[in-house]
Amino acid sequence: MTTIADEVAKRRTFAIISHPDAGKTTITEKVLLFGRAIQQAGTVKGKKSGQHAKSDWMEMEKERGISITTSVMQFPYAEKLVNLLDTPGHEDFSEDTYRTLTAVDSCLMVIDSAKGVEDRTIKLMDVARMRETPIITFMNKLDRDIRDPIELMDEVENILKISCAPITWPIGMGKEFKGVYHLLRDEVITYQSGMGHTIQDSRIIKGLDNPELDGVLGEYAEELREQVELLAAAANPFDLEEFLAGQLTPVYFGTALGNFGVDHMLDGLVDWAPAPQPRDAGDVTVDATSKDLAGFVFKIQANMDPNHRDRVAFMRIVSGKYEKGMKMRHVRIGKDVRISDALTFLAGDRSAVEEAYPGDIIGLHNHGTIQIGDTFTQGQELKFSGIPNFAPELFRRIRLKDPLKTKQLQKGLMQLSEEGAVQVFRPMKNNDLIVGAVGMLQFDVVAQRLKTEYKVEAVYEPISVATARWVESDDERKLAAFRDKAYDNLALDGSDNLTYIAPTMVNLQMAQERHPDMTFRKTREH
Ligand code: GDP
Repeated sequence: MTTIADEVAKRRTFAIISHPDAGKTTITEKVLLFGRAIQQAGTVKGKKSGQHAKSDWMEMEKERGISITTSVMQFPYAEKLVNLLDTPGHEDFSEDTYRTLTAVDSCLMVIDSAKGVEDRTIKLMDVARMRETPIITFMNKLDRDIRDPIELMDEVENILKISCAPITWPIGMGKEFKGVYHLLRDEVITYQSGMGHTIQDSRIIKGLDNPELDGVLGEYAEELREQVELLAAAANPFDLEEFLAGQLTPVYFGTALGNFGVDHMLDGLVDWAPAPQPRDAGDVTVDATSKDLAGFVFKIQANMDPNHRDRVAFMRIVSGKYEKGMKMRHVRIGKDVRISDALTFLAGDRSAVEEAYPGDIIGLHNHGTIQIGDTFTQGQELKFSGIPNFAPELFRRIRLKDPLKTKQLQKGLMQLSEEGAVQVFRPMKNNDLIVGAVGMLQFDVVAQRLKTEYKVEAVYEPISVATARWVESDDERKLAAFRDKAYDNLALDGSDNLTYIAPTMVNLQMAQERHPDMTFRKTREH
């Protein structure tokens, strides 16, 4: 019989952080290809012709309904069970994207090697760093003309403040991309172009001094030897402890489109990334191997499809075991609920889960009683911490079409903010309602839900707000003085927390300088 400890040791739960277009979707596809194919080694790996393997894969995709648009994907790899949590990007970027990073044990950072470190990656790294999440790096698009690999690593170190330890090293680039040298395995793995849909039968050449190398790589062989010598002297060696502390990232090079290097990265992930980690719940820390079930909600997905009015709450299991039909305590409201229809998102359509373990994500149907940050247990009185609100970056004033519906609008906005769909701020100086989000789509979702669920038609107006900060101080007197002085810029958020609304970043900076006794926070815990 399998124990909870066995199941915990097997699991790796991670998310991808990247700037739009760096290749997250393509990598996800390839990762699933490896995940599925390894289970089905006979059907995909054995085929000699690439064409066959490709159609097998597409059949499998159809059969299993694997869709890379799903929110949570679970697949086996190298005797481990990997959970990949999707972090929505582009237009559907939202606070959920940030919060998803609070529910993983490690992250894969994907960088477009022609571009280097980009904005969104910097922001997401900031969030990953809040919990010192271990980061694995994949330098993508080696089949293109990329920037100098040393320069890329320098940029990661300087901008993201994390040391880089190359695990593989590229040989050539663009049309001349030959493959990589694996520093730890001391082997060259060659790249073939045009094999992006299959698992490549790469040629592996053992040993840097192997004369075979000169035959295969030509002039690149000598260059590689020189570079490796240089790396041995100048690059950081991989250090597991520093990696687990979030201070050092192993770096892989490859091309997701060409399906090359993704497996090297996955090998690193299953070998080094942590199994489901313990989690703080106030004064206690809950270990993944504790026998009683406990978990927290990090994301609530509203269905935009009017035929599916339900919302799904995503719960990360922290400890114990979920079994279909079990009773769970919804700690915040103090109620026991029987959960017989938790969802998994493995297949394109949702299917019911029989059992789930720490590191796994299950979906709970939510009819309005579940909020972001809620804890579910088997009766223990716990409240997990560390699921924050993030200072919004986009702001709108919200106005009613029908002024008589103010009450409904306020009620709707309060509930939607508790659920984490959007944030609401009420300035002290007037009766405006300001909504704040980190992604544009959040505004559309909220307008739509106000209309269907609360029967209010609201419109947005632009407002000149650059950012918001939650303000705190232990000194009541100073806080009162601050309230007077900064009155025009203060507001209360959806849970009545004091917030500073800054029209410009310069204004915020001045306020911080003027009021050194106040703490201005970018995040606030639920
Ligand atoms: P996402 O926005 O991060 O999900 O990026 P996508 O996976 O959608 O990739 C963005 C674009 O880059 C697409 O046109 C991909 O085909 C392309 N792309 C992704 N990986 C590679 C790669 O390794 N090499 C090349 N040349 N293009 C790639």
